Formats: sequence, C-alpha cells, structure tokens
Amino acid sequence: MAEWIDRILYPHPDVDQVYADRPLVPNKVCPQCASTEVARYQIANHLGPRITLTCQECLHVIAVERPSTADSWPPFRAVAYDWPASPAERASRTQLDSGDTPAG
Ligand SMILES: [Zn+2]
Repeated sequence: MAEWIDRILYPHPDVDQVYADRPLVPNKVCPQCASTEVARYQIANHLGPRITLTCQECLHVIAVERPSTADSWPPFRAVAYDWPASPAERASRTQLDSGDTPAG
C-alpha cells in the first residue's frame, strides 16, 4: 500500500482515553532554567499543526517547527499538504513560515 494512504486512513482509537506522548529529548538543556526535562511533541496552534520543543519544568518554548512526514502530524494531513504553493497562496504561506519562531 502506498505510504500516503497511511496519512489519510486513520483508524478509530481502540482505547477509552487518547493521550499524547511527550518524549524527552536526550542531552537537551533548557536555556531558561537549565532543566534536562525538554520534550518534543505535537501541538496545534494559531499557525496550524506544529512540533514544539518545550521545557517541561518551566514551559519555556525552545523551538516550534513544521512537522515532517515522519512526525505523522496532523493525523488527517491532506494529500496536497507538501505540494508547492500556487502563486495565489504563496503570500500566505510565506507569512506562515515566518511565524515559525518561538512564541513568547
Ligand atoms: Zn526550563
């Protein structure tokens, strides 16, 4: 089966509660509080689906980046999500990309 189909067909959860894993990033230190409890996980903010690198002690946002295909985020990613933008969409895409800096 083609790989892109996995991004469209998303099975109903087979557990009562769904949760998000927040795996810790090894050898990463928070620049704000010097904690090593830095996690990389999926979020949905005002710019759309993103991957954040956030300290779990002080909640300092170290980085916010666009998810790659390997991140499987968002679960219902459109087939054309990674296609180049048309000239009509390019201006808004550029605005979205420039908003990838840490929020606050
Ligand atoms: Zn911190």
